[in-house]
Amino acid sequence: MTEIIDGNAVASELRDELAGAIETLADAGARPGLATVLMGDDPASQTYVNMKQRDCEEVGIDGRHVDVDGDADPEELYDVLEALNADPEIHGYLVQDPVPDHVDYREVIRRIAPRKDVDGFHPENVGLLVAGDARFRPCTPHGVQKLLEASDVETEGADVTIVGRSRIVGKPLANLLLQKADDGNATVTVCHSRTDELAEKTRRADVLIAAVGVPGLIDGSMVGEGAIVIDVGINRVDADTEKGYELVGDVDFESVAERASKITPVPGGVGPMTRAMLLYNTVKAASLQAGIDVELP
Ligand code: NAD
Repeated sequence: MTEIIDGNAVASELRDELAGAIETLADAGARPGLATVLMGDDPASQTYVNMKQRDCEEVGIDGRHVDVDGDADPEELYDVLEALNADPEIHGYLVQDPVPDHVDYREVIRRIAPRKDVDGFHPENVGLLVAGDARFRPCTPHGVQKLLEASDVETEGADVTIVGRSRIVGKPLANLLLQKADDGNATVTVCHSRTDELAEKTRRADVLIAAVGVPGLIDGSMVGEGAIVIDVGINRVDADTEKGYELVGDVDFESVAERASKITPVPGGVGPMTRAMLLYNTVKAASLQAGIDVELP
């Protein structure tokens, strides 16, 4: 029987565990505060920031949202970042990606105070992660690690193949899984758009992680018998639904579920974990800034 890994359940448990830490911090006068910044009015980005704000409210984190006009000069956005860097009530914040074309996202990231960079994308935080001393693990890779742990998947000695080498998922996840740590110690292969013989590499994986952005790219013929399959992909495809689309992963669920021993669904797999890990990083940021130790799940 193939086990369907329930990301909603794992994320919900994690959020419950975080609630204790949030209360401890709030009692000590350091209720965690998270800000989201959105430049422009992209509807998908608006949905994402709304969800993040709702998540904050649900767990007792102070949420704040700042809108910046999509046509504004980049300096206007930088002023907002400077103010957030100096604001003692905001322990962490993020600028929703993508930003408008006339803004250099890398420059935006560099202007976020590393101690408040709860996405973990600032070069200082990337460096710490690669060095094996992460301050903030990026939310999606961390969420995948937590999901594997909660599903009793041992990464030590496992052949893990990651398809996708992005800055936000593939690369940090590869780094985390090969680290000498209980939730690492894997032998990691990273595949990407220029990889030859992709199926040959994916078939030999004990744990296969797809983070590509191509609906259904991984089908049953590309998966070894009994593999554990984590589908990070979230892709909108046209469908006869109220919204006119549905969300699908990078994995062709039906054919892959026939071969996998465990598999994440889309939606309800990695997505809720990413959201939970942003809350986790915000609590960690508040704890570090307030100098108050709390137990993190
Ligand atoms: P990206 O576009 O930045 O990177 C995609 C990667 O896939 C690239 O490294 C590219 O080399 C590789 N790739 C593209 N086509 C390929 C092919 N045919 N064969 C092999 N490799 C190929 O994307 P991203 O930001 O990493 O996101 C990937 C997917 O994950 C998207 O569907 C995105 O929506 C989703 N995502 C989900 C979450 C979540 O919380 N579940 C978070 C972030 C991203």
